[in-house]
Amino acid sequence: MKSELALVERIRRGAGRSRQLSLGIGDDCAIYMPVAGEELLFTTDLLIEDVHFRRETHKAADVGYKTLARGLSDIAAMGGAPKFCLVSLALAEWTDERWVDGFYKGLLELARGTKTALAGGDVARAGKVMADIVVCGSAPAGTALRRSGAKPGDGIYVSGALGGSALGLEAGRGKAWKKHLRPAPRLKLGAALRAKWGATSCMDLSDGLSIDLHRLCVESRVSAELDGDLPVFPGATVAQALHGGEDYELLFTLPGKAPRSIGGVPLTRIGTIRRGHTGRIKIEGFELQPLGYDHFRKP
Ligand SMILES: [Mg+2]
Repeated sequence: MKSELALVERIRRGAGRSRQLSLGIGDDCAIYMPVAGEELLFTTDLLIEDVHFRRETHKAADVGYKTLARGLSDIAAMGGAPKFCLVSLALAEWTDERWVDGFYKGLLELARGTKTALAGGDVARAGKVMADIVVCGSAPAGTALRRSGAKPGDGIYVSGALGGSALGLEAGRGKAWKKHLRPAPRLKLGAALRAKWGATSCMDLSDGLSIDLHRLCVESRVSAELDGDLPVFPGATVAQALHGGEDYELLFTLPGKAPRSIGGVPLTRIGTIRRGHTGRIKIEGFELQPLGYDHFRKP
């Protein structure tokens, strides 16, 4: 690495701008002026070598893309619009200038496509690569979609197809691998569910439908009944669709009927919210155990 200053300058050139961001990279802090009547949404995520990606199989640009995509998926889940992000990067001994450039190339490509400015960050050396991101988004005050609003009788819906990322991780190639590497954050869908379709609750599927739906039900103090009609990613198993993580699709509830698709993203009704038995999920009469990904579960 030649120098940190040169690196910062390169990043700064590609960082993008936002009208409310009156000061970006280069000073001690960034300055952001919120728009009146809007609430700010914040989310943070860690992407760690050998936990979330491997240097042998994941290109630098894919790691950069996914670092931001995961944060944007959380903003989408609240029905928000992304505003800016802050990224801190710990670099292992094996990374070189090309890797770092690739990381920011992948990240900034998605940032430009979603109007997310890169407002600052930090770079340091460490034993393994670690990318730590904070994403800030916004939504009109009082309207952000939460996990806690699902009501008995609401339909349960998911976007896209499930299990693709788990299949991709196993196969290491094909469309499923692409889904694993470059999940598309469902920003337009989330915004439409909030502004137009009256979704009562929403979250993104990061750890697997079984555990994420369980979490949504716990927050809403309800249970769920699935009808077994899941949109399974082509080639994936039902188990991968139920428990596989990192699909980054949206899981949401609606009192009425959702359209078949929004902005080209297909929607599927997978069940109904029920009263009582907080957190319980039934599928075709059986109780579904929340087996999705949990960092702290003992093996
Ligand atoms: Mg989330």
